[in-house]
Amino acid sequence: MAKYIGAHVSASGGVGNAILNAEAIGANAFALFTRNQRSWVSKPLAQEEIHTFRSLLTERGFDARYVLPHDSYLINLGSPDEETLTKSRTAFLDEMRRAQQLGLQMLNFHPGSHLNKISEEACLDQIAHEVNGALAQTEGVTAVIENTAGQGSNLGWRFEHIARIIDGIQDKSRVGVCIDTCHTLAAGYDLSTEQGYEECFEAFERIIGIQYLRAIHLNDSKKDTGSHVDRHEVLGEGFLGKAFFSRFMHDSRFDDMPIILETPDPTRWAEEIRWLRSL
Ligand SMILES: [Zn+2]
Ligand SMILES: [Zn+2]
Repeated sequence: MAKYIGAHVSASGGVGNAILNAEAIGANAFALFTRNQRSWVSKPLAQEEIHTFRSLLTERGFDARYVLPHDSYLINLGSPDEETLTKSRTAFLDEMRRAQQLGLQMLNFHPGSHLNKISEEACLDQIAHEVNGALAQTEGVTAVIENTAGQGSNLGWRFEHIARIIDGIQDKSRVGVCIDTCHTLAAGYDLSTEQGYEECFEAFERIIGIQYLRAIHLNDSKKDTGSHVDRHEVLGEGFLGKAFFSRFMHDSRFDDMPIILETPDPTRWAEEIRWLRSL
């Protein structure tokens, strides 16, 4: 088993370009947006673009299991607003279908926000209901819930939130979790110390179950434990610190899944990946 490491690379000019951008930084995994992440509407993927992506992926030695598309930031499946919810439902289904068309096996999404208009429980149950709807209309793609920093009214920062969503998903084989290490620290799980690290993943195992862990967003954090502020930092230069990344790289629980950097300086990704591999 090995570590599959990459970054959230640009797909501008066509999704196939993400593969070349990943190759250029020495990655063997990557994340991408398959549509404009700041717009509700996007052109369908052209047949040729789909074909190019699929053939290039194999040609350049990547495996679809280590490619993690990220959904649009606009989508809020927990929205209490009917219009936003309708748009989110349509866009989320489109994201799932795009992943399927590209031969990918996962879609990473942010659970949602209650905007202080509905209870946390109602919001989490609505998210599960919406994911069920999208799963029923697609095949072979797992919905991967990303934990959040808990900024504003965003849910998914406590492991209990994620467990409740999973509980409401009918097909448990098509739901998973992506741990963002910056968000985890900001949410209050102190990954920076050896004891905090052990306690965090012990809590993950007890509350969610390690079998649901499908991907990692590996980021350092500009803000300290429990800040609820989502500010990514270059690996080793934030509050997680170098010792965390060394511990992480030696932990076999994170083998065989995409490990994605979303650190702030793309010009340093190649160096950050090399540094991780040297640990
Ligand atoms: Zn994310
Ligand atoms: Zn993330």
